[in-house]
Amino acid sequence: MDEDQSLKICMRDVNPHIVCSLCAGYFIDATTITECLHTYCKSCIVKYLQSSKCCPQCSVKVHETQPLFHLRADRTMQDIVFKLVPGLFENEEKRRAEFYKSRGDLNPKKDKEATTQGENASGPRLSSIINKPQGYKYRYDEQICLCLERFSTQTVQHYGKRFQLQNLEKKFIRCSIRVLIAHIKAMLHKKLNIPTTLEFDVSCEEEDLADEMSLKQIYLMNWYEKETPMLLYYRFQEGNT
Ligand SMILES: [Zn+2]
Ligand SMILES: [Zn+2]
Repeated sequence: MDEDQSLKICMRDVNPHIVCSLCAGYFIDATTITECLHTYCKSCIVKYLQSSKCCPQCSVKVHETQPLFHLRADRTMQDIVFKLVPGLFENEEKRRAEFYKSRGDLNPKKDKEATTQGENASGPRLSSIINKPQGYKYRYDEQICLCLERFSTQTVQHYGKRFQLQNLEKKFIRCSIRVLIAHIKAMLHKKLNIPTTLEFDVSCEEEDLADEMSLKQIYLMNWYEKETPMLLYYRFQEGNT
């Protein structure tokens, strides 16, 4: 419970920096005005600038005739939001599912009920996200294509035996975006016939990935809007002896 509380306090402190002042939800497609560095959801600020020329927060003039000219997609901010708000993606997904189910019948109440009943009741105020204006959707489905590439022709000594990092027979795989890095590592042990005591590191875009990370998170943080397959590298962990 202590851990839970420290998380809450922490979220309260960071919320002002990761919440969109236009919709009161966490940033989705975080977009920053280059003139004043204020950030909003893309859909929120694009819509807002259709009828205004100024930043909603500081009133700096953003444009004369081209609303999108000083807007930039803020991937760093979006990465931070996804890292800090673990339930964000799942809730967006739920909202999207509801949206498709009730297409033509835009009833935000329905969405709200779906969230407040969710198991995440103690978490950050996710219901605010669910009530975002309709129209946002993720551009990928429940499956993701991966390419699992060996990092190098690494060789290690492990309990007196010598192991060389091999290529997978099939390096392209298609799997659920809910798969965790721990699963990927277990698969590598099995397919490459490596003892589990000799551990792997898996990385994406030169960032080592923690066991509990899902492919979904990795996609959102490192591969968002890029073509799949998403490229992951594996290698033996340093210091395996
Ligand atoms: Zn917004
Ligand atoms: Zn501003």
